[in-house]
Amino acid sequence: MSESIIIAEISKGSIASVTAELVSAAIALGTSPTVVVPCTDASIADGAGYDGVSRTIAVKGDCFANYDASSWAAAIDSAAPSGIIIAAATPQSKDVAARIAARRGLSIVQDVVAIDGMNLTSPIYSGKAMQTVALSGDAAISVRANVFPAAASSGANVSVVDQSGDVATAVQEIIARASTRLDVAEANIIISGGRGMGSPDNFSHLEKIADVLGAAVGASRAAVDTWDAIPHSMQVGQTGKTVNPNLYIAVGISGAIQHLAGMRSSKYIVAVNKDADAPIFSHADYGIVATWEETLPILESALSSMMS
Ligand SMILES: Cc1cc2nc3c(=O)[nH]c(=O)nc-3n(C[C@H](O)[C@H](O)[C@H](O)COP(=O)(O)OP(=O)(O)OC[C@H]3O[C@@H](n4cnc5c(N)ncnc54)[C@H](O)[C@@H]3O)c2cc1C
Repeated sequence: MSESIIIAEISKGSIASVTAELVSAAIALGTSPTVVVPCTDASIADGAGYDGVSRTIAVKGDCFANYDASSWAAAIDSAAPSGIIIAAATPQSKDVAARIAARRGLSIVQDVVAIDGMNLTSPIYSGKAMQTVALSGDAAISVRANVFPAAASSGANVSVVDQSGDVATAVQEIIARASTRLDVAEANIIISGGRGMGSPDNFSHLEKIADVLGAAVGASRAAVDTWDAIPHSMQVGQTGKTVNPNLYIAVGISGAIQHLAGMRSSKYIVAVNKDADAPIFSHADYGIVATWEETLPILESALSSMMS
């Protein structure tokens, strides 16, 4: 059986749940996975044990305190054994996977949404077409969230590789806008607002619904570009984050092709827009032709009573 190397996804200092889905992807490929955990504190690797994984390697180094593409790729590359590299399809992990692929001379397939034996399916041309790529050896791939079921957790058999002294550069500090909300890239349910929300203050209506559903709040690029208070980290689309939730609720978003590129593979799409001809309705499973001012209070109270 060939080997695969899963790069664990780290979120807010712990192992993100998508890592368990990567294990299922590795098993679907017929490979024997090793999980590599980039970390500053090797104890987080204890949470990276899964059924079907025989080995977990904590790659410990100061460079992992903040993201820096070249030092992360260098440190992971020198600690990880050979095999098919599997990462989550988040912007950061796609970047690391591509850099490791370049270092190892491997092909790369990004945004995999299906695996059949060694055949991988992924979107191209902003999601307008799908391609199937047949692997014939080692490669690097990134896999979208919510495609594979999560592998069951089990005890981790952790070995630690200390890379602290071995990198040329490290980012000392990243000043980011603090947010306690769930990131869109990790969420199973997303409610996003567009320019039709009228002002950033009105995103509080989306946040109330997100709190009821345990959802993340996203935004279109027009919203992010228009209002400083809506951070770029919330942007969904071709030049933002690619998401694959079970439910995507688009509010006051027209449905431009660049927005669709980031969310069209969502399992269910619900659109709220006052314009019945808005392109988003051609891609929505359920559409509400109304203003958000009319819709969101009713939705919030209906969902609150359903969930209570
Ligand atoms: C190279 C490139 C990359 C891009 N990347 C991205 C990307 O990653 N993500 C992205 O989103 N866009 C991206 N864009 C921009 C994209 O083309 C659109 O301009 C953008 O998605 C529009 O955002 P929007 O739908 O919020 O705004 P608008 O197009 O202004 O649409 C607002 C919608 O809100 C509706 N509306 C207005 N008032 C209300 C109300 N009260 N209640 C309900 N509905 C209302 C309107 O009917 C309209 O449909 C990119 C563009 C380019 C050129």
